[in-house]
Amino acid sequence: MTTEALRAPSPPEETTVGNYFVSNYPPFAYWSPERVGEAEAALNRAPQPGTPLGIYLHIPFCRKRCHFCYFRVYTDKDSIQIRNYLNTAIRELELYAARPFIGGRKPHFIYFGGGTPSYLSVDQLQHLTDEMKRILPWTEAAEVTFECEPGTLTEPKIKAIREMGVTRLSLGVENFDDHILEINGRAHRSKEIWRAYEYARSLDFAQINIDLIAGMVEETEPNWRECVKKTIGLAPDSVTIYQMEVPYNTTIYKEMKAQGKLAAPVADWPTKRGWVKYAFAEFEKAGYAISSAYTAVRDASKTKFVYRDCVWSGADMVGLGVASFSHVGGTHFQNLADFDPYLSKLNEGALPLWRAYTPSNDERLIREWILQMKTGEVRAVDFTHKFGVDPLVRFAEPLKKLQADGWLSVEGARVRFNRDSLLQADRLIHAFFLPQHLGDRYT
Ligand code: SF4
Repeated sequence: MTTEALRAPSPPEETTVGNYFVSNYPPFAYWSPERVGEAEAALNRAPQPGTPLGIYLHIPFCRKRCHFCYFRVYTDKDSIQIRNYLNTAIRELELYAARPFIGGRKPHFIYFGGGTPSYLSVDQLQHLTDEMKRILPWTEAAEVTFECEPGTLTEPKIKAIREMGVTRLSLGVENFDDHILEINGRAHRSKEIWRAYEYARSLDFAQINIDLIAGMVEETEPNWRECVKKTIGLAPDSVTIYQMEVPYNTTIYKEMKAQGKLAAPVADWPTKRGWVKYAFAEFEKAGYAISSAYTAVRDASKTKFVYRDCVWSGADMVGLGVASFSHVGGTHFQNLADFDPYLSKLNEGALPLWRAYTPSNDERLIREWILQMKTGEVRAVDFTHKFGVDPLVRFAEPLKKLQADGWLSVEGARVRFNRDSLLQADRLIHAFFLPQHLGDRYT
């Protein structure tokens, strides 16, 4: 680690364009089509004993495109195109299930993300999940997560979602104020939140999660406090709070660019951090525990984040669908990122792989270290056992610097972020990046 790598830029006060959230490492910009052979090789190897298997399915359909959205989504597909997409993803799972890396495993976790998985009809959902279970049964699944947009949830649909085996229903509430929802391009309104939540509660899901965003366009302090109060009133099992970021491919950035503006029309970073800090304190007063930079959990003994914890500790995960990310046998790879090429490749009977990267042992150590730091605390000894390297030695320089600046503490083998550093964990963990992975190419 060089001194330059430690010179993390002081945070810009304004929210400018770019990604804040760190979801993987090394950055996607380093994955390449030339390395897809590495993914093929990983799929043809038997799994490392004890490695859990997960399935992620990207449902790229939404009623409207939110102005802050940077995901691969489509708002113009009809039911025939959607049915075709689902059948193609089922074919994709069949191709994976025949490869040696499965090694007789059944999925330990399944995640339906988007886009809007709840955009699918009851018939489409039943067809999709029956076929997925036929190929790889869910009999050993510890968690099945399903992301929902409240306005798409009818009573029969929530019932069907429960009956197909979903354990964790994640509601994309984001805000409770109709004007803020509207001005940010969200499709749902507050009355749909209450209705969906009430139906879902009556159906005994193991975990209901509410997603909020701190710092949407026109958010104010009194409104944010009201959102926190209303969320606590609903008593979800967990709450996930993201700080608004403005990546390049968002509608907000396109408008900024057209107007020649550098700062996004949303709260600055200190304000957003202050709002999350307030929310975390209120949730703690209501009996919740803070389990990561983004999450509050009502009963930590019952409510787990199987998907998050597995992905952050190097599980195998097959990503189905357009633009999906996978991690198998130590290799990262991503699917083709456009609708028609994704479908065409599978119609030819081939996996729709686009780009790949196999991290070195050191890069895998960095990846798991930085992702797990986002829970607020890591135990060095776990990494020493897994990677054969003591992270307290490997990361001596950034740890010393972060400690000297008051961001973290090292007590024996435990490394801890304090609350203020947890609120900006995605910025601080850049201190552990290799020098070549810092800078613009991160986004
Ligand atoms: S609902 Fe989610 S995936 Fe769909 S447009 Fe909005 S932010 Fe994007």
